[in-house]
Amino acid sequence: MFKINENFLKLPGSYLFSTIGKKVTAFKEQNPEKKIISLGIGDVTQPLAPAIIETLHGAVDDMSNAETFKGYAPDLGYEFLRTTIAQNDYKDHGCDISADEIFVSDGAKCDSGNIQEIFSQENKIAVCDPVYPVYVDSNVMAGRTGIYDTKSEVWSNVIYMPCTAENNFAPQLPKETPDIIYLCFPNNPTGATVNKAQLQEWVDYANKVGAVIIYDAAYEAYISEEDVPHSIYECDGARTCAIELRSFSKNAGFTGVRLGFTVIPKELKAGDVSLHSLWARRHGTKYNGAPYIVQKAGTAVYSEAGKAQLKEQVAYYMNNAKLVYDGLKSAGYTVSGGVNAPYIWLQTPNKMKSWDFFDYLLENANVVGTPGSGFGPSGEGYFRLTAFGSYENTVEAMNRIKAL
Ligand SMILES: *Cc1c(COP(=O)(O)O)cnc(C)c1O
Repeated sequence: MFKINENFLKLPGSYLFSTIGKKVTAFKEQNPEKKIISLGIGDVTQPLAPAIIETLHGAVDDMSNAETFKGYAPDLGYEFLRTTIAQNDYKDHGCDISADEIFVSDGAKCDSGNIQEIFSQENKIAVCDPVYPVYVDSNVMAGRTGIYDTKSEVWSNVIYMPCTAENNFAPQLPKETPDIIYLCFPNNPTGATVNKAQLQEWVDYANKVGAVIIYDAAYEAYISEEDVPHSIYECDGARTCAIELRSFSKNAGFTGVRLGFTVIPKELKAGDVSLHSLWARRHGTKYNGAPYIVQKAGTAVYSEAGKAQLKEQVAYYMNNAKLVYDGLKSAGYTVSGGVNAPYIWLQTPNKMKSWDFFDYLLENANVVGTPGSGFGPSGEGYFRLTAFGSYENTVEAMNRIKAL
């Protein structure tokens, strides 16, 4: 008789967004006259930029004609996109990454979940706390995380790196040596980031202990400060220890279109086995490529018109971020994030529990956010608001919070 992968049974229910949904629905039923504003979403709301739409239309037309029709895309992505990415995201920023080190995919969530497949089950992972849940859950499914303690909400075989106000939301090098280190900067959920010297420390550490860094740079486009690295390959030695994940979701609104990529430098090796060749094999076996029309649309992100339009789109969200940040500050909250990321991270007043603050905000301001504790035990006492709402709703939400 067949047996299931019992690791799935170890996963605690992911109640975060469903609990939020239920609470909001219940509140609406009891208060049908109240207009609820959500600053809880981690999804973009602005439409695709005109340059992208135009290129998409052109690519759709290509599919209507036998001469220009495309079937299966190359496993690793079309050359036209990989070359454009290598030039614009890396070479133009002084990073030594070539087109054949880029693996195009349908997004960074899949890649961040799938990448662990090329590593032994014996590897021990280190994650920031709070954290984007995919890194941990995908390792749970692979049987790498040990036993879950429901009380402390931690896995016995995971190294947690607390990111709190005490360390400016930047993880410290762990005491116990990990094999795989997940880093995400600018960070979801805290909106925090690290400067180049801090990231260099991680690269040096990984090279020293023989660990690999999986670097999630999904929010790279939101960086506004000078000294914040856009890619881990800006650091010396990253080619021998780091994998980078990128996404078109947050910089270009592709959350529903689906496009991302993973960078694996050829020097990244375990003994004499290159991770590049393992991932190429895995990609080739299990993935048939991101759609032609989507990869074409991806090139528009790098066109002159596309760049200008997306700069405006990011600025629109970052203006919201500033409104939220400044609004909370003036209302007396302790706030961080929002400068290099579309997330604002606040401390709940009077050490309120994250969920109590959720209820308080919903009931008194009719504003929905995300409890920090939903991202990990060190998120308790914190709360996340996002900049992905409309300008009008963001202004209104802040007026209500300030009036509390
Ligand atoms: C949104 C997000 C992504 C992007 O995922 P896609 O699958 O490309 O949409 C990746 N990592 C983090 C931390 C995110 O918040």
